[in-house]
Amino acid sequence: MSALSAIPPVSKLPRFVVRAVPAAAVLSAFVHLARGGFRGLQTLGWTEASIVLFLLAALGVMGWRRFTRGAVGAPLFLRDDLELGAVLIASAFIVVAIAGGEVFPLVYLLMAFLVAFLPRSAGLMLLGVAFAFDALVSLQGPERSLTSFLTHALFLTLFAALYQLVLAARIAAARRAESSAVEKRIKEVEERARTFRLVSSGAHDNPPDVKDEEKWLLASVKEIEGAVGAALEIAETALKTHTCAAFLLTSDDKGLKLYDCRSMSDRVQRETFNSGEGMLGGVLKRRAPVRMHSAHGLKGISWYDGGAPELRAVLAVPIIEGSGLVRGVLVADRLTHNPFSDDDEKLFTTIAAEVLRSIEVERVMTYIRKTRDEKDRFFRAIEELNRAGSPEQVFLAVLESARQLAGLDFCAVTIVNEVEGKRVHKVARMLGVTAQGSKALEGRTFPDNNGLVANVVRYGAPLPGRDIKAMERQVIFDEETQLRGLGALKIFPLTAGDRILGTLVAGSRRKAALDHDVLRMLEVIAIQAAQAVLRAQLYEAMERMATTDGMTGLYNNRTFQSKADEMLAHSRRYGRKCSLILTDVDHFKSVNDTYGHLTGDQVLKGVARILKAQARDTDIVARYGGEEFAILMPETEAKGAKVIAERIREAIKAEVFQTEMGPLKVTLSLGIATAPDHGTDKLVLVEQADQCLYYAKRHGRNQSVTVAEAQGGRKLQAVEG
Ligand code: GH3
Ligand code: MG
Ligand code: MG
Repeated sequence: MSALSAIPPVSKLPRFVVRAVPAAAVLSAFVHLARGGFRGLQTLGWTEASIVLFLLAALGVMGWRRFTRGAVGAPLFLRDDLELGAVLIASAFIVVAIAGGEVFPLVYLLMAFLVAFLPRSAGLMLLGVAFAFDALVSLQGPERSLTSFLTHALFLTLFAALYQLVLAARIAAARRAESSAVEKRIKEVEERARTFRLVSSGAHDNPPDVKDEEKWLLASVKEIEGAVGAALEIAETALKTHTCAAFLLTSDDKGLKLYDCRSMSDRVQRETFNSGEGMLGGVLKRRAPVRMHSAHGLKGISWYDGGAPELRAVLAVPIIEGSGLVRGVLVADRLTHNPFSDDDEKLFTTIAAEVLRSIEVERVMTYIRKTRDEKDRFFRAIEELNRAGSPEQVFLAVLESARQLAGLDFCAVTIVNEVEGKRVHKVARMLGVTAQGSKALEGRTFPDNNGLVANVVRYGAPLPGRDIKAMERQVIFDEETQLRGLGALKIFPLTAGDRILGTLVAGSRRKAALDHDVLRMLEVIAIQAAQAVLRAQLYEAMERMATTDGMTGLYNNRTFQSKADEMLAHSRRYGRKCSLILTDVDHFKSVNDTYGHLTGDQVLKGVARILKAQARDTDIVARYGGEEFAILMPETEAKGAKVIAERIREAIKAEVFQTEMGPLKVTLSLGIATAPDHGTDKLVLVEQADQCLYYAKRHGRNQSVTVAEAQGGRKLQAVEG
């Protein structure tokens, strides 16, 4: 077996022999020249003829090899180049030997050709081969000249070097041109990506990682672009077209617009053109490829701007999706009368599929980009909601996010409260222009009625369930308020746990605006909004607890202190007058002692209510401590404060407090001090008011005393004393 396998297979033997032909031919030419052959026409005989034939055979073998390898895309090796060069050199030297030194420039030209077209290593080696042949011809022939050999060698080297240099420079220039063309192309693609709207145009509020995302997108767009471009390039090269272009149908199917093309002409139609006309119209209608040719030019060419060139062959195939939807058409044309073949059509159909795939990828990417954007905005809106602190901020955040995300024309938040066991709705905040008298709508309260908002709160489910026919007549808030021009409406409950806090009203002029996705989004916003409203309400309640007195609902002492600081700071800065009244219930201890603490509390609540009612809106009424109250009165001098104090005293005196222990009456003593007259320091002012109060107690209670009165009184007292 091993002996057998050592023998080359029979089938390989002829190929081995054939492969040896070029080397053998060159060698035989070399040997024959060395032996003084080919010297003049008269020396030619059978040997010379067979060597020439041998060389021709070698050329044939090499030509065949180049052709077969080229057809399958296999590479050629250094050996192939060397063989070709050597055979050509041998032939040239035979010609030189026969015709004499005058034709030696032929060798220079050949050398230049070889250096220019073969790799540098092959060129150098062939230069060596040429030297060897030259040595034979120049040093051995009848003329035998070392000078001529050296001259030849020098010129050969010069030619080779010169061509190599020129070539290198040209290659470098070509590379530069190519790289600048590539850069230009990338710029174009980037521009195009922007027009695809794949790259965000709203970069202003994007997160910082958007740069990376844009890069990723650009890369993808380039890839898609590249894919379509490459497909068209293949078609152009393989089908030898004049123009090879992809046109896509516009969204209404009425127009065709160029997507990409490879063309010798710069007149390919770049504007949208009618998709129903001409040859392409036929392809789209029949949804099948069309091939046409005519020696005298074709008609129905719509894809050139301003007069089509004289086309003699056209091939057009529709671009059809798997679902059967026609997306566009791929067209190839030729100026020569060279009809497209069945194979051309097959190739072009494959390319149409490739183009379709790229368009699909692009569409999916656009979608991903869009949904990503929406999700981003959505989560940012939710974040905003969660950040909002006060109910005011919450309402605004809810409405802003609802309007932006869902593209609403009108939206509002209503809040429901229980007032004496009955529901009262309030339009807390609204955005939009559709409301009739929108100013009046904000802050509007309405009782529980049969409107949509009240029903949403009642049933805890979104309304209306179906499209409303007569939107104008529908009661949304109450009978008196109307929303004009709405095409679509949905009201969502703001539900937190088992509590319904209010509603989110969403409206749009467009009938189809509230589609499934938008509704889903609004639903989630409503849930988040309810949580935010609840949090805001809790926060408000906590703040209320921290600043007010639980029993009376008045400000507590802590708040009194800070409000007094504020007011006195203002008084100091602007020299404005303000007054402080301190009050104390007379003989309250005995109320407690006689009727009990609880009754005492009831009386205190009643006193607080009267104080609040008698004070002005701008006054700060606080429970100073126990049964003592304080009233801060900005922009009020002693005289004005005295009037209010007396009004309060009279009201308390007149009041009959209804308690569990029966009707009760109390009186109040009040001390009044005014800034800056009696000091602008808080402690000083409080002390002054307290002194006045003490004075009132000492002088019979149930009276109000100003500093001036107390001082006058003291003088009086002093006189009395
Ligand atoms: P005067 O006319 O001198 O003010 O006599 P008075 O009895 O009111 O004396 P004083 O102001 O010193 O008494 C304060 C009493 O008020 C003591 C306390 O029992 C009662 N008191 C303080 N805070 C409360 C409260 O929150 N509820 C009740 N029921 N009583 C309180
Ligand atoms: Mg007291
Ligand atoms: Mg008292």
